[in-house]
Amino acid sequence: MSLDEFSTLTSILAAGHLFSEHVGLNEKRLRKVGPIQYAIHWLYGRFEPNILRLGDFILSKKMITDTRLGKLFLQAFASAQPYLPYGIIVTTEAAENMLDFVVNTEGPKGARFALGPCVCQYALNRWKEPVKKDLVVLYGADIYYHLDMGYELVTVEEAKSMLRECHKAGLVHGIEFCLQSGKWAFVICSCDTEICMPTRFYLHTGKFHYAGPEIAGHDPSKCVGKKKCGNCLERCIYRANQALNDTITFDASRCMGCGLCVSTCIGEARAMKVRDDYRHDHQVPAEILLGQASHDAATKAQ
Ligand code: SF4
Ligand code: SF4
Ligand code: SF4
Repeated sequence: MSLDEFSTLTSILAAGHLFSEHVGLNEKRLRKVGPIQYAIHWLYGRFEPNILRLGDFILSKKMITDTRLGKLFLQAFASAQPYLPYGIIVTTEAAENMLDFVVNTEGPKGARFALGPCVCQYALNRWKEPVKKDLVVLYGADIYYHLDMGYELVTVEEAKSMLRECHKAGLVHGIEFCLQSGKWAFVICSCDTEICMPTRFYLHTGKFHYAGPEIAGHDPSKCVGKKKCGNCLERCIYRANQALNDTITFDASRCMGCGLCVSTCIGEARAMKVRDDYRHDHQVPAEILLGQASHDAATKAQ
């Protein structure tokens, strides 16, 4: 640890926020996050820009991304990092449901939401509007607020408004957690395919993103075709849509459930529905993301 980092750690200890109350997720409850988890994640946050720069360096090498041997290396590298942040891909409505759940559920005191210029942009010094799109939540809000990277505490309404702006801009939301555990959920990311490291790695390796609790439905009888519309081809970064001449075909097995194709579908051929085989209830329950848990908590609080 450098002298600078040591002095930051000392000042954090002195400021005492390591030992103040922090909020974490535990399936359908909020729980207190202890100082050990907080300190480990703080250290990760401190070194995250370096990790992201290493990832960007790897993906910038054509001999890694474009050759057979390089691809094998990339796959092995990604498979060996299951404890780094993984994201469950969600619609804007599901991300908002998560925020409502946090607001409506009683739990420890502590910050809830902080918004900042996202770490990938900060680490790679590549910027794109909307710049402030990294919404750290729960104990993550406390950590990044204190990391001196430009994060500030925001209200739930400000957080929702940012999510909607990101949706319009075609960014994909992911609820990210470390160590493959929802107890380490700390951020709702809104990502593109040029800067965002987890998304870029997913597109090369199939790692770092999980499909969310919703999936798109496609009604071919309503689709107006590629020439008149074709918006779903552009909006879907997962290539779940293909055009055969003017006809759009939809591959549900590639759909991650981001909902980006729905709001811009001219023919109203798209709608989200609940995914039957959502596999991440033990990390972030579908009940939270589909709004049921938040509704229950709000009813209980009345
Ligand atoms: S994962 Fe996406 S939103 Fe999160 S820090 Fe990286 S680019 Fe920003
Ligand atoms: S098909 Fe639609 S909902 Fe599914 S991943 Fe693509 S843009 Fe997102
Ligand atoms: S966005 Fe909707 S109407 Fe447009 S091409 Fe795709 S499915 Fe058809």
